Amino acid sequence: RHYQVIAAVAGHQLGLQGHGALLVVDPANLTLLQVTDNTEALLGMPPSALLGQPIALVLGAAGEAELRAFLAKHSLDCNPLHLLTHPGHGDASPLDVTVHTIDGVVIVEFETTARTGTQEPDYYALIKQSVARLQEVTTLQALGDVATEEIRSLTGLDRVMVYQFHDDGHGEVVAESRRPDLPPWLGLHYPAHDIPEPAREIFRRVWIRSLRHVGAPLSEIVPLAHPETGRALNMTYCALRGASVMYTEYLHNIHVTSTLTLSIRRGDKLWGLISCHHYSGAVDLPYGMRAACELLAQIVSLQHESAENRQHLHYRLQLEQTHQTLITQAFRGEGLSGIMEGTPTLLDAVDASGAALFYQGRWWCVGATPTPEQLQALNAWLSTRAEFSCAARPVFVTDALASLYPAGEAIADVASGVLALALSRTGGHRVLWFRGEMVRTVNWAGSPHDKPMTVGPHGPRLTPRRSFELFVESVHHRCAPWNAMEIDTVLRFRTLLMEFIVSRSEHLDALNTELARSNDELDAFAFIASHDLKEPLRGIYKYAHQLSEAVDGAIDGKRPEQLEGLMRLTVRMDSLLDSLLHFSRVGRTDLLYETVDLNEVVADALEMVDARRTSKNANIFVPTRLPSIACDWVRVREIFVNLLSNALKYNVQEGVRIEIGCLSATDDLPEMARPSEAAGHAVLYVKDDGIGIAPEHAGEVFKMFKRLHGRDDYGGGSGAGLAIVKKLVERHGGAVWLTSMPNRGSTFYFSLPSRAAT
Ligand code: ADP
Repeated sequence: RHYQVIAAVAGHQLGLQGHGALLVVDPANLTLLQVTDNTEALLGMPPSALLGQPIALVLGAAGEAELRAFLAKHSLDCNPLHLLTHPGHGDASPLDVTVHTIDGVVIVEFETTARTGTQEPDYYALIKQSVARLQEVTTLQALGDVATEEIRSLTGLDRVMVYQFHDDGHGEVVAESRRPDLPPWLGLHYPAHDIPEPAREIFRRVWIRSLRHVGAPLSEIVPLAHPETGRALNMTYCALRGASVMYTEYLHNIHVTSTLTLSIRRGDKLWGLISCHHYSGAVDLPYGMRAACELLAQIVSLQHESAENRQHLHYRLQLEQTHQTLITQAFRGEGLSGIMEGTPTLLDAVDASGAALFYQGRWWCVGATPTPEQLQALNAWLSTRAEFSCAARPVFVTDALASLYPAGEAIADVASGVLALALSRTGGHRVLWFRGEMVRTVNWAGSPHDKPMTVGPHGPRLTPRRSFELFVESVHHRCAPWNAMEIDTVLRFRTLLMEFIVSRSEHLDALNTELARSNDELDAFAFIASHDLKEPLRGIYKYAHQLSEAVDGAIDGKRPEQLEGLMRLTVRMDSLLDSLLHFSRVGRTDLLYETVDLNEVVADALEMVDARRTSKNANIFVPTRLPSIACDWVRVREIFVNLLSNALKYNVQEGVRIEIGCLSATDDLPEMARPSEAAGHAVLYVKDDGIGIAPEHAGEVFKMFKRLHGRDDYGGGSGAGLAIVKKLVERHGGAVWLTSMPNRGSTFYFSLPSRAAT
């Protein structure tokens, strides 16, 4: 009893099915170490007459020699094989003798054979047909249907089911062949605890387990432990291994009298079981029949992947073709954003109801998706998931987002399920597909919410369920599951997308280098040209001045108009050259970074435009305090001075109103008003109520020397101010843009990288 307790704790069970006998043999001298307590009935000798004796006493000298040769020839570790047929004791039928080794002992088992006389059923011929049928199937459903039919016809059992384990551990009957008078169990779901983990663990190692008669008396091993090592017998691979009390009770509750269970494996994963039930008494499942069933289970396992592949072949080809088209589209167009419009789009890359792409700092969506804000929050949550840090498979997939993600319920209508890919480790690029909610009805065999734990006199213990009434449940916040093929295919698509991103960034790098070079050259040219042109211009002005003095009074006391014009033009040209010189300097001199309080910068800038401010009777206000930022003090002040003087200049109202402020990137900027580069930057703005700018001119105003008005209108100007502002902002790594309505005012925005913000 003591050993039994230890054995139970270790997962080994000492009860054996009483219809057969088992001998534990010492491999060194082939003497008997342990035997079951039923040997007298089956082999004609009680344990006391067998223990310590050579196995020849049971098998005869020839049998012993056969065993010795068998042990030398075959690898019997955890691999029971048929040794010989024993004539049986007295009138009893002959017995199949199987043998395997484990933990340093030889286990020999005796069971009634299927032989009638000398004739054994030709299992090979029987299953040949089954194997041919299994090989022809093209869908998983057909594989299950054929497997259940064939095993039922081979064994004659009442009900044969394919039972699939879902990701959350619960099981579903996905194929069934049954005696016509029995109620169908196809489509029923069973909670995960119906097949507890230790049982699943066994089926990861053993292909087959049979129970001849549920509730039949068990035999016991004598002595309970190995006489020398004191170890309990490891019965994992024994055909006669009995079932746990828990399982026997469970079967009893559903009126099952005999069972046969086979595993279905995908690689080293237990995909499901072929579970067979019989309801009318004991069933002999002799070695030959079990071997045939085991072979069928192995073939079903092997065929499983190829049946699934064939089932998905057409769909997969279609997806792969779409992926190729999308990548070609991206290469032809502006970039990845090109796959979000036209046909096909990212939405066609897998069967989904919505798709979103995070690229160049913003979300691009197609189909039914959450809002950009919801996407942002979901993406932040996804980034915390371990799946995304897996370099080989950075994919997150669920068909029940709301059960994992707290904010998932609010978006369940469009995003009950998500398939997300990380295109870069830093999270810079993401692809997400969504499936909306599909309300499903699940038929549970009894309520899945019944707890299997009950408290008895000896404390809490697992007990099998008693209720098998149909329990119908509506499942919300779920979508149709993503299958393995879809996930594999989009992972390959991910590789294509990443190749595209890498090649595009290499291309951009090359362009940038080229651009930087030509910008430098242009700046140098502009500098030299404006600098050198100023000299002759001064000469022209001087001569024009002298000329005008020489002719002064000679012509009716008036200077000729042409001379006036010449001098005015040289002054203007001089001011243009100054602007050009300044513009080129902005491109050539280094920025001086320091932490700058923007409130002080603005105060300084306001002082510089004070004269114009007073003349316009302007009210300039800053609603909230501005941040401190690492930037070039003088340059940023210049930006503000330029924007402020424009805001004052291009206004014909009495009492001009100007607002200066700062938005964080999360503020509700109209999407159109925020270029992608501005994401994550501090965005500053100067807003006026002036004459405004027509939309078609919004991009023009930043060009050098571009004015929208006559030379001297609105106080005149060279048209260089905004070009200089743009250059200054871009040198800081930011962007500048505007929103405006004619006669309603304009807002000029510029962004500065917030990594510099303190
Ligand atoms: P300048 O002011 O010297 O003409 P800018 O480069 O500063 O040159 O501006 C270019 C043009 O953009 C201006 O001529 C004007 O037409 C337009 N503009 C600039 N700021 C504003 C504004 N706040 N409101 C309306 N128009 C503006």
